[in-house]
Amino acid sequence: MSLKEILDRAFAERYGVAAFNVVNDLTLEAVVAAAEEVRSPLIVQTSVKTVKSMGARVLYDLFRDIAEPAAVPVTLHLDHCPEREVVTTCLQTGWNSVLFDGSALSVAENTRQTIEVVDEARRHGAHVEGEIEGVRGVEDDVGSDEEGQVYPLEEAVAFLEATNVDCFAPAIGTAHGVYSAEPELNPQRVTDLVARKPIPMVLHGGTGLSEAAFRDLIARGCAKVNISTALKVTYLDSTRAFLDANPTKYDPPSLFREQRAAVKGMAERHLTLFGSTDKAW
Ligand SMILES: [Zn+2]
Repeated sequence: MSLKEILDRAFAERYGVAAFNVVNDLTLEAVVAAAEEVRSPLIVQTSVKTVKSMGARVLYDLFRDIAEPAAVPVTLHLDHCPEREVVTTCLQTGWNSVLFDGSALSVAENTRQTIEVVDEARRHGAHVEGEIEGVRGVEDDVGSDEEGQVYPLEEAVAFLEATNVDCFAPAIGTAHGVYSAEPELNPQRVTDLVARKPIPMVLHGGTGLSEAAFRDLIARGCAKVNISTALKVTYLDSTRAFLDANPTKYDPPSLFREQRAAVKGMAERHLTLFGSTDKAW
């Protein structure tokens, strides 16, 4: 299923679709099972790090084998990718969409390259998420802990007009990773952008936001809600708990069962919170 088809419906009806960063076959299968359980559309996404650690072909074949028989719409997206050759590899392999992350470039150069990426994606029937402002916090080796630059609304709108990206990740005060203090959000920016250019917005740095903040941002037009840190925390905490509770049990499949149940539960809670349950078609 294309990202655009999933997001355009969510944007029109103002619900959010979770985009989970999976790290292996177990987490991929668990989030797909969660989406089927609550009848929700789903975005599976992969970091550049995961693409490199598993290999694009292996990852894509796993995705196809698990997602194709699923009874809900599922799409495969490449998260933050500053590397053009990885964008090309994923598009050629079968990813449905990519986030070309040119936030470290000047807006002019980012615009020029994003136009090229959109052209390239279209040749594969694929879609593109755009970004001009780095989301604070390093995620899978991409990004920076420095507070990034936020550009004026006009500059963001000009980027959207020039590139024709299908969705956009604006800086609104969220950050990747675990929050050490309550973030200061700028939800009005989502409203202002959508008023000028009505395309789905993407919420990064969602882990740790309040339920009220999620609902408000989704109602303003954040149709894609990225969840990466919560999956990693859930996955590794369930691993730690199992190993601590069973220090002499050498039975990997029992561990996998615990991990899967934990990740699936985490995914179901997010899908429910974002309002996408029973939205599958
Ligand atoms: Zn992100």
